[in-house]
Amino acid sequence: MTQSAISIRGLEKTYAGGKQALKGIDLEIPRGSMFGLLGPNGAGKSTMINILAGLVNKTGGKADIWGFDIDDHPRNAKRSIGIVPQELVFDAFFTPFETLELQAGLFGVPKPERRTMELLEAVHLADKAHVYSRTLSGGMKRRLLVAKALVHNPPVLVLDEPTAGVDIELRQQLWDYVRTLHAMGTTVVLTTHYLEEAEALCDRIAIVNNGAIVANDLTSVLLSTAGDKKLIVTVDRDLAGVPPGLGDRTELKSGRILTLTYDKRTRNAGQVLAAVAAAGLGVVDVSTQEADLEDVFLELTRG
Ligand code: ADP
Ligand code: MG
Repeated sequence: MTQSAISIRGLEKTYAGGKQALKGIDLEIPRGSMFGLLGPNGAGKSTMINILAGLVNKTGGKADIWGFDIDDHPRNAKRSIGIVPQELVFDAFFTPFETLELQAGLFGVPKPERRTMELLEAVHLADKAHVYSRTLSGGMKRRLLVAKALVHNPPVLVLDEPTAGVDIELRQQLWDYVRTLHAMGTTVVLTTHYLEEAEALCDRIAIVNNGAIVANDLTSVLLSTAGDKKLIVTVDRDLAGVPPGLGDRTELKSGRILTLTYDKRTRNAGQVLAAVAAAGLGVVDVSTQEADLEDVFLELTRG
């Protein structure tokens, strides 16, 4: 199948107050991918997700989910996607069990096909199946929303800032479960402003800034196109400061260790080491450090 899981063309949103949250987004999310939508707060990530969920009306452009146009085939589009919203919204007076049963009913899932307890077990809430949802912790509520998004067994799962308010151990469990779903064939889209999260989980990442996509590539390609590289050099004597001639991107880390940051598109390691030698220093040891996603992100969303 070559069709995208989600296809977005020229998507625009201007809110009633005049805020232009999406400025003509084009985005293809491949089937089977673990896709990250990364961007600072206010970039437009939730607006995009909420349009796909049918919660926000777009003001321009087109979107398909699993090949179904959200305007022409809204029911099929909705059946193809499960969305875990950023806000923890649900009825506090239902139990997790009832919440999932109701949701399954809304999607017309026949009783024998429902997987309520299986889903509660998967998100580690089986022992809370029959307590009021309002007594659940923030992390438990988030996991209940994940289960709720899955009752109709959608091919695409979207998680909007899923780790907000989830403690580290449970975050790990949540990711393990999301990875399992992905391994079993679910296309996963997650929005986050945590770089490490996108870097660790996603095979592709689109960076959103100010209502526009500023980068969209394989995570590995994004990382390799980052311009900056660091050389960490141990020299043969103690230094009191950065020797002149090594440029303002050189730092003295401790007595004998210098880190030299350079743009690998215009210089190479040999030239950097030659500059160290020219400063009269002997090189005892060298290691390198590639830019991480944070560097790419800062480069692209600067200003
Ligand atoms: P993100 O999820 O990336 O943090 P959002 O999509 O929530 O970004 O917001 C994008 C922009 O749209 C922000 O400037 C935000 O203030 C604005 N915005 C979001 N929701 C509304 C709304 N209901 N009414 C007016 N402006 C909104
Ligand atoms: Mg958001």
